[in-house]
Amino acid sequence: MIWYPYAQMKTLSPPLKVNGAEGVYLYTERGKLIDSVSSWWSVIHGYNHPALNAAIERQVKNFAHVMLGGLTHEPVEKLSDKLASWLPKDLDYCFFSDSGSVAVEVALKMALQFNVNRGSSRKKILALKNSYHGDTFKAMEVGDDEDYHFAFPNKQGVIHIPTQVEALAEAFEKHGKELSCMIAEPLLQGAGGMKTYGAEFLRSARELCDRYDVLLIFDEVATGFGRTGNRFVSDLVCPDILVLGKALTGGYIGHSVTVANKRVYDGFYGDDDRLALMHGPTFMGNALACSVALESIRLFEEENYLRKISRIERISKEELGGLRDERIKEVRVLGGIACIEVTDGKTLVGFNDFAAERGVFNRPFGTCLYSAVPYIIKDDELRRVLSVMKEWFNRR
Ligand SMILES: *Cc1c(COP(=O)(O)O)cnc(C)c1O
Repeated sequence: MIWYPYAQMKTLSPPLKVNGAEGVYLYTERGKLIDSVSSWWSVIHGYNHPALNAAIERQVKNFAHVMLGGLTHEPVEKLSDKLASWLPKDLDYCFFSDSGSVAVEVALKMALQFNVNRGSSRKKILALKNSYHGDTFKAMEVGDDEDYHFAFPNKQGVIHIPTQVEALAEAFEKHGKELSCMIAEPLLQGAGGMKTYGAEFLRSARELCDRYDVLLIFDEVATGFGRTGNRFVSDLVCPDILVLGKALTGGYIGHSVTVANKRVYDGFYGDDDRLALMHGPTFMGNALACSVALESIRLFEEENYLRKISRIERISKEELGGLRDERIKEVRVLGGIACIEVTDGKTLVGFNDFAAERGVFNRPFGTCLYSAVPYIIKDDELRRVLSVMKEWFNRR
């Protein structure tokens, strides 16, 4: 018996069975559907990609996995070198994990222990309202997801503020000397409601973190690899610790990385064993995951994905620009994301079925009807996804 995610099992409508997948298409018992959410934003190159398949096949013939405790191997060395040179500034020190949530845990652990190691008592964490950072405990605490509030209300030492510069300045004035770190999903908050905000807020955050000696963490598990139209938001404003996941392996295998800058790394470096970072997921640096991640990054660079993403953004704006309806609160488009936020979540009940009948797989949550398409989607396929979203409001 499978216990499905985010679901009341008693009332769950049966999930669609997938028998095959290729490019943007899922082959399901209800026919061929365009995956308009890229399997939770991860499958950026589409399914069954020949180059990604080949990378895995090459590696699996050699070996699938060895632990990183006492051992190392070429795929993980190459991937960490690639990330170090590809990511901005001195974000060079790569700690691998098997999921985004764990990589967030590692980032927070780094920030908290960084302070312990330097003899500081700073413990508080500044986070954002409507943020989502994963489902493990510390990630839930820094998150602000309503679905968890009733079950896990205890959030000691975490301060949540709205994405407004005044609130930010006020929080630093009040708590600046007790903060160990600030964590944010930069520019776009995903699972917390697909909310967007400006880079100005991030620039202020960077400045205040520097002034108050607070580490800045960007959770780019969702926004990384082009989703906002930037390669990484960290290219605009550089954090001290960067977390990547989801699209890291092109959606092939769960893997993630917490990348620290030199200052953070140096905070753990020394003759005393107690300064070390005591963490080590069993499957960190998995050789198949690293091989496919390298190939995914190669495709991203060589096939100019940022141009593909700006085309997706342009078409999304074109298609959704004129959409008006009393049930709609706001329409937002940013890079590879398009979101129609409605006033009442009930408006979206039944959309999954409606979309499947029209050849599209989609899964709204809360008050958000959104698309996060694979970047390789063709113009007519993208227009089809967006018209199905529009049709839902125009149908009566
Ligand atoms: C999905 C997500 C996570 C959690 O990643 P998992 O791989 O599901 O553990 C963390 N942060 C953000 C911003 C995410 O979108």
